[in-house]
Amino acid sequence: MSETEPRVVLVTGGNRGIGRAIAEAFIAQGDRVAVTTRSGGAPEGALDVTCDITDPDAVEAAFTTVEAELGPVEVLVANAGITADTLVLRMSEDDWSRVVETNLTGSFRLAKRAAKGMLRRRRGRIIFISSVVGLLGSPGQVNYAASKAGLVGMARSLARELGSRSITANVVAPGYVDTDMTAVLTDEQKAAIKQQVPLQRYADPAEVAGAVTWLASDAGAYVTGAVIPVDGGLGMGH
Ligand code: NDP
Repeated sequence: MSETEPRVVLVTGGNRGIGRAIAEAFIAQGDRVAVTTRSGGAPEGALDVTCDITDPDAVEAAFTTVEAELGPVEVLVANAGITADTLVLRMSEDDWSRVVETNLTGSFRLAKRAAKGMLRRRRGRIIFISSVVGLLGSPGQVNYAASKAGLVGMARSLARELGSRSITANVVAPGYVDTDMTAVLTDEQKAAIKQQVPLQRYADPAEVAGAVTWLASDAGAYVTGAVIPVDGGLGMGH
């Protein structure tokens, strides 16, 4: 991407963890980056926009702000996500709908709004941050896994709908990454996970960011509808 010219990149959930590493990687390339979160705290060099992605009006307002401040969004990274883990018989309607509303419906809302400008400009990159769990399943994560698997169908449908306008839609599926989301796991759980990962370690958030910036780059222009695993071999390419 920035091998040619800076583009406007919107990263949701970019104040910490994977989203922050993604935002920092685009900033380092010289792109114009906007970060949206509920609580603020974007990295230096990014436009900090408050936006709860479960609120359609807030998503519309965020895009309006980014377009006014930086220009039309050419790269969308739908990264914001939550968990509400528990075994299925204990999983409440609220646990289900909060997770699906944020991870899947929120991403739909963002992609729909971003596609509007991308179609007009006949270029764009949409990247969803899913998870190895969306394809492998995980006990206690029926809601989360369903939301993350849903992103694959959504990306592939968008790839078909938008491809004729040079807009790509892809999924990055990280394995276990060192962030606040995984900090809640016990040492025993972490050790058990590492044993299953061929590379025997968690990912650094920057390693996920590398796949995202590549998909958004000129080198990734002919990749669409793909699921790129960044999981130390856990899913064996799915
Ligand atoms: P964190 O919990 O560290 O960060 C989550 C981010 O999402 C925060 O920036 C948070 O900001 C934002 N967010 C959450 N809910 C909303 C909302 N309703 N509206 C706007 N922003 C929101 O997560 P990670 O960095 O670990 O994960 C990032 C993504 O990667 C997620 O989609 C996650 O599912 C996925 N992933 C993570 C893995 C891991 O091992 N960590 C593995 C595989 C996938 P704020 O609270 O300020 O709104």
